[in-house]
Amino acid sequence: MNPPTAIPKTTDLYENYVAPTYGRFRVAPVRGQGCWLWDEDGKKYLDFGGGIAVCSLGHAHPRMAGALHAQALSLIHCSNLYQFPAQGKLAQLLVEKVMGIPGKIFFANSGAEANEALYKLARRYGAQRPKANGDARTEMLTFGSSFHGRTLAGIAATGQEKVKAGFGPLVPGFRHLPYNDTAALEAAITEDTVAILLEPVQGEGGIHVATPDFLKTAHALCQKHDCLLLLDEIQCGIGRTGHLRGWETALGEDPTLAGIVPDGVSWAKGIGGGFPFGAVWLNAHHRKTEAPIADLLGAGSHGTTYGGSPLACAVVTAVLEEILEKGLPEHAAAMGAYVREKLAEAEIPFLKDIRGLGLMLGLVLDAEAVSALPACQAAGQSPAIFVVNALNKAKLLTVPAGADVVRLLPALNVTEAEIDTAVFMLKATLERLAAA
Ligand SMILES: *Cc1c(COP(=O)(O)O)cnc(C)c1O
Repeated sequence: MNPPTAIPKTTDLYENYVAPTYGRFRVAPVRGQGCWLWDEDGKKYLDFGGGIAVCSLGHAHPRMAGALHAQALSLIHCSNLYQFPAQGKLAQLLVEKVMGIPGKIFFANSGAEANEALYKLARRYGAQRPKANGDARTEMLTFGSSFHGRTLAGIAATGQEKVKAGFGPLVPGFRHLPYNDTAALEAAITEDTVAILLEPVQGEGGIHVATPDFLKTAHALCQKHDCLLLLDEIQCGIGRTGHLRGWETALGEDPTLAGIVPDGVSWAKGIGGGFPFGAVWLNAHHRKTEAPIADLLGAGSHGTTYGGSPLACAVVTAVLEEILEKGLPEHAAAMGAYVREKLAEAEIPFLKDIRGLGLMLGLVLDAEAVSALPACQAAGQSPAIFVVNALNKAKLLTVPAGADVVRLLPALNVTEAEIDTAVFMLKATLERLAAA
């Protein structure tokens, strides 16, 4: 008789069978509800990581699950050779309600893939509107500590050495400038420049918000030099900053006065609420030169098998409609202010600064003080990873960014009570670390 087979622990299965591309935490969630998660042992966590700014509606949202179920029973996939009501309807919603600027949508399946469409758009634009000598313009300006995804072009666009190391030769045509340095940007434009790509709020790089001056300068330069202003709103878009359009939150009080119209915007993460999805909005034409943009990638020039499937579009439409009908961007703004107020009251040790907008918040740690803790030294971890691990053990999930930032990215429909609980857990955990 064979002995009963032992049930392998999830962490052992990862160890043996899953490529080690992530430094994974020892948390194994199996079920979620709203802002809460349960692991294999039934332990309950408060999720303020939100799947890295993805779970806009929280976990197991009935409207999202309902749309998924209903669409799966009618049509999941059919290919982009045909036309689906769900894709047409979602494109209209994104152009008219989310952007409110004439343009068109290209559908993809992830953030990196959405950005790929922007790089190809810029290359095409530069080929069609070349330099004086007839050669294509090919240079895209991107910024230090940016993150644009893990494809070969994505790591070339990204302004962080750690994502590029060991993957050369890099895709040419990207030049990095310091973020929020208006003078450097003005000085960088050459006759080879075809686009400026930036995150209005940098996420992975540690939550840095673009200054209104920087955004206005980028826009003015693109107008003047016939370049494309491309905004990566993959993490900061669709309500997280307190506004559907993240760059408008960054612009501040009266964004319409600034008159900034991008030429391309990429979305993923929060727009799908957890369904794998990416999309780009393409401006109808360049404001100044009137050169066509949205129709530049014509038949046969670009595509993807799954992008904008009936299933994806039905689910994402449900997510967007919930965000719009419930006023979740405004709620995110109010809850972001509430988090800041509660954190200020709580007087939490090691907390040096809070950066970000709405519910895209970075808690900046006193890196020196955390690194000096014997437990942090023994663990050999960065201050951010060490603190996130300690919070995980206290059953509050957060996301590290860079060496010294802990991100709070809860669902957009998070409640004041949940924020109170999270701040209480943060305070208790960091006070315990400080006392050790
Ligand atoms: C996450 C992210 C990406 C990459 O998205 P994937 O879906 O992981 O490919 C690109 N840009 C920004 C700003 C992101 O936060």
